[in-house]
Amino acid sequence: SAKKGKNSTLQFYDQSIKEASDKVLEIEHELKTAVTNNEFELYLQPIVDLEQRRIVKAEALIRWNHPQKGIVGPVQFIPIAEQSELIITIGKWVIESACKIAKYIEQHGYKIKISMNLSPTQVLDDNLFNFLYSKIKTYNVEPALLELEVTEGVLVDDYSVIDKLLSKVRAIGMSVSVDDFGTGYSSLAYLKKLPLDSIKIDKSFIQDIATDDNDKAIVRAVIAMAHNLNLGVIAEGVEDNEQLHFLSKNLCDSAQGYLFSRPIKVEEFLQLIKEYQ
Ligand code: C2E
Ligand code: MG
Ligand code: MG
Ligand code: MG
Repeated sequence: SAKKGKNSTLQFYDQSIKEASDKVLEIEHELKTAVTNNEFELYLQPIVDLEQRRIVKAEALIRWNHPQKGIVGPVQFIPIAEQSELIITIGKWVIESACKIAKYIEQHGYKIKISMNLSPTQVLDDNLFNFLYSKIKTYNVEPALLELEVTEGVLVDDYSVIDKLLSKVRAIGMSVSVDDFGTGYSSLAYLKKLPLDSIKIDKSFIQDIATDDNDKAIVRAVIAMAHNLNLGVIAEGVEDNEQLHFLSKNLCDSAQGYLFSRPIKVEEFLQLIKEYQ
């Protein structure tokens, strides 16, 4: 009857929660050996300067070559890694790999900046700067060829720690951008106080920019604000020419998205710049 029905629904609910948490535990367990088993790979997605119409930068995006599941994207495992120290281990792997890639591309004769994503936990790790600096030295990379992408939340919540870190990072010549700008329920005060280079407008504002007047207004305002603060602006998630046209017309500095290329392997990226530049 009704009672029985309710119980079975509950039972099903409990079971699906259990299945989900088992899955998380399994991924967590597998992530522990993924670095030593060499299962991660950084893909590169070009960032195009809209005035020069050239690839000036590339974002490094992590992929997990899982022995059974194939290629697993970061949304499937980064949030799980962030629940533990695993994100520090993975984050260090990302930093070292980004340094290697920046050097490798430079050795092929291209000056292309590599930007890497940092998780909030990683940004707050005391050892971050020393680790980063030691890898820059090991691979003999020009710091100007490296950029850090940090999300708004961490810039607001831990202002003084971040201020010191970003100042050191910029003192050696690296640049810093604010990722997913506009999605973080945060105050804008950090923009005038922190040493930053550019902001990346989140793709949710770009998606409907050709038709949505509110998105148009927001993006125009963000570009104007950024420029008045001497910050560069990068639009994320640019998929078609209408979006690109709007961004160019409104003096957005650069753009990234499937219109130019999906994130690709380093060798493919080299091929792409040979053809594109
Ligand atoms: P993000 O840093 O905002 O990276 C941009 C995401 O947008 C990437 O997803 C990229 O593939 C996707 N994207 C690029 N162009 C387009 C487009 O035209 N349309 C659409 N719909 N999407 C586009 P991806 O690679 O799945 O990465 C997702 C998120 O995972 C990243 O967002 C970043 O927050 C995180 N992530 C990626 N790599 C790393 C990493 O090495 N370390 C850390 N901590 N997080 C990472
Ligand atoms: Mg990013
Ligand atoms: Mg982003
Ligand atoms: Mg993000």
